[in-house]
Amino acid sequence: MQILVVGGGIQGLATATALAREGHLVQVVERERPGSRASWVAAGLLTPSSPWKYPQGLIALCHASEAMYGDYVADLIEHTGIDPEYENEGMLYPEGLGFSVDEMEVCTRRRNELGFEVKHLDRAALDALQPGLGPGVESAAWQPHSARIRSPRLVAAVLKRALQCGVDVISECPVVSLVSSAGRVTGVRLSTGQELEAECVVLSAGAWSGELADSIGLQIDVRPVRGQILLLRGAVGSLAATVNDGDCYLVPRRDGRILVGSTMEDAGFNAVTDREALSRLHALAAQLLPATLDMEVETAWAGLRPGTPDRLPYIGAVPELPGLVLATGHFRNGILLAPITARLVTDVVAGRTPCMDIAAYAPRPIDSECALLAG
Ligand SMILES: Cc1cc2nc3c(=O)[nH]c(=O)nc-3n(C[C@H](O)[C@H](O)[C@H](O)COP(=O)(O)OP(=O)(O)OC[C@H]3O[C@@H](n4cnc5c(N)ncnc54)[C@H](O)[C@@H]3O)c2cc1C
Repeated sequence: MQILVVGGGIQGLATATALAREGHLVQVVERERPGSRASWVAAGLLTPSSPWKYPQGLIALCHASEAMYGDYVADLIEHTGIDPEYENEGMLYPEGLGFSVDEMEVCTRRRNELGFEVKHLDRAALDALQPGLGPGVESAAWQPHSARIRSPRLVAAVLKRALQCGVDVISECPVVSLVSSAGRVTGVRLSTGQELEAECVVLSAGAWSGELADSIGLQIDVRPVRGQILLLRGAVGSLAATVNDGDCYLVPRRDGRILVGSTMEDAGFNAVTDREALSRLHALAAQLLPATLDMEVETAWAGLRPGTPDRLPYIGAVPELPGLVLATGHFRNGILLAPITARLVTDVVAGRTPCMDIAAYAPRPIDSECALLAG
């Protein structure tokens, strides 16, 4: 089948690769450079940070994708030679700062009920695992199986794999609208006025997906949610695992750098950083790990998450618009959810029963009053 994928972020590239591997002829149409938007920006946590706030449909999706990640990365390394630094070293949730001890007890119980293994560590056990945490940290919940990845490297590997598998990636090529004929989506219109035709169009344009869906009369609620991140130059081994207190997370890199994230802001489509928000992030990081105050700030960046008010993505066909498949709205978990989304989209395109129930990810009524930014 001839398939057009709109958007060359992690979702578009991963999906295009999976479709090409099933024998389809796939083109990705990307407005800028592939993988240069939210997917490049992401912290790369491969576990939901506050699962007790998530609907069951999202937990199920996260679990399914988490289980696929090890093999997904092994395939990328084998075929591209790019190592995206997948590490499964766990995550610490300190108690006493962003989360109160009481709050964390409830959260830990809930996390266990949802299938995430979590243990309680008192301050002595915590100091053995991660020396140097701030005096406000009383104890912690420890999730030993929690992975992370370096997103820019992941995106580079996925792009290379897509090209190897025969995907035609067209960069710097804005799509202005989807095109339909006789009630069927038949292609896209480019900013040059040219139309590209396809038997199937996959919409994976991240935070911009809503406006493209709108061009064909489809209402989906995908809104940009800005996130800013700081990169600190730390020493190798200064942080043993990801530390996440709800307001702020610290993510170690193999080379000693520490990534500090992230803000959640309604700033429209404005993806610039601002000094005040970054200073606040740095102060929060210092409460968790005081040594970060003395670390040099190497750089900072911002990106736009494709947010949905109910936190659920849009994945699957649109019954009233044959020829269109959605793979968007992954909000805070789009890096984690790439393997499962690609798998579900290939199932849908092939006409197979999807490997899990996807009814919850279909277009649904929009509540424009509903806020996006809580948690
Ligand atoms: C600060 C921050 C931290 C994050 N941390 C994590 C994390 O730890 N773990 C996790 O799983 N997720 C995380 N995320 C979320 C994750 O980054 C996103 O969910 C994911 O990148 C979405 O992928 P995407 O391909 O849908 O979007 P994008 O990467 O934004 O890609 C969409 C692409 O579509 C293109 N496009 C848009 N409009 C058009 C058009 N009209 N024509 C052609 N192309 C178009 C864009 O140029 C873009 O390249 C984070 C996000 C941010 C901002």
